[in-house]
Amino acid sequence: MPGFELFGEEEKKQVNEVLETGILMRYGFDGPRKGIWKSKELEQAICQTFGSQHAQLTSSGTAALTTAMAALGIGANDEVIMPAFTFVASFEAILSMGAIPVLVDIDESLTLSPAAVKAAITPKTKCIMPVHMCGSMADLDALKQICDEHHLILLEDACQSIGGTYKGKHLGTIGHAGTFSFDFVKTITCGEGGVVMTNDKDIYTKVDAFTDHGHDHAGVDRGADLHPYLGYNFRISELHAAVGLAQIKKLDLFISIQRKNNQILKSYLEQVPGIQFRVVPDPAGDSASFLTWFLPTAEATEKAIAAFKEAGIMAGNFYWFANNWHYIKKWDHLKNANSLYPLSAAQQTALTNLNKADFSKSDLIMSRCISTAISLVWTEEQVHEKGAKFLQVLQQVLS
Ligand SMILES: *Cc1c(COP(=O)(O)O)cnc(C)c1O
Repeated sequence: MPGFELFGEEEKKQVNEVLETGILMRYGFDGPRKGIWKSKELEQAICQTFGSQHAQLTSSGTAALTTAMAALGIGANDEVIMPAFTFVASFEAILSMGAIPVLVDIDESLTLSPAAVKAAITPKTKCIMPVHMCGSMADLDALKQICDEHHLILLEDACQSIGGTYKGKHLGTIGHAGTFSFDFVKTITCGEGGVVMTNDKDIYTKVDAFTDHGHDHAGVDRGADLHPYLGYNFRISELHAAVGLAQIKKLDLFISIQRKNNQILKSYLEQVPGIQFRVVPDPAGDSASFLTWFLPTAEATEKAIAAFKEAGIMAGNFYWFANNWHYIKKWDHLKNANSLYPLSAAQQTALTNLNKADFSKSDLIMSRCISTAISLVWTEEQVHEKGAKFLQVLQQVLS
């Protein structure tokens, strides 16, 4: 699953090239940098690898989402529809723009339920933000159709699904904009970092400026740049970009290992009566970073987890339902609007209303769901061993 598992000489070589010039910043210093432009090179590699017209690196995936929303004109009191199962960064970015996160149910794809999205649309809705969780994708055709019908923006949070595709196009390149995270546990890592991808030149120009204090990057030197808009500093450093440049060259290898190991493990779980797998709208496009499966009931799931722990095979398996980071059930800080600074009245109300919202449909799915992270460093023998143990324990639990 994470690129850090296969970190080596390639990353060191890239970083050393930056250290030798001593120019750690992505802009300026044209002479002393001696032709080394790691951030620009990585942006070009991202465009080529994922088939995006434009790419702008950022300091994190959270910064990428925030930047994308700013460039798409999403701000004060705009409603953004997002899933109740995601990483906290999705709502953090929405809140930081002054917008309102509208959390809705997921379906058995573990991503936005198109029916729940439709039901949540109001005159204030501006954007639908599917999150392609655990390496696989949302039903983008259905969501795109809803966006078209209601004139809404489609922003893909593809932070966890680098290398996944939907009907031949890379996740993150299908909506008006899309984002990846390159934090330390993502499919490819920069240490910290992220990217906004878009096929719209105008959005890209805004994204480019927003990540660097609004600089228009049109002048010959930084000091001469104009500032057409307000921005922030969400820049990536050359050191981080250098790591990413080594990692992106290994992406095909990562994905092929994931797919192979995932398939072997699945062949064991398929033998357990009562186990079902996550719905994948385009199975050929699954990045396979996780194998996600359902047990028949919440009780059986809890029993299975206890049995996995007892057998010493729980490591690398995630029960998101009880996890502090990924599901609404445990987001008390969000539901209580525990903000360090005053939120707007509309945000405050929307957040505290989440305490009354009904997520029983998602609960029913999440309480039966386990995701197994697929390692890049398992030997084939180890995957078979793991699968055989899973099979043995689960047959006992479900008998
Ligand atoms: C990791 C992640 C992010 C944010 O990425 P950071 O780089 O850690 O800020 C956003 N959304 C999802 C779904 C993620 O998994």
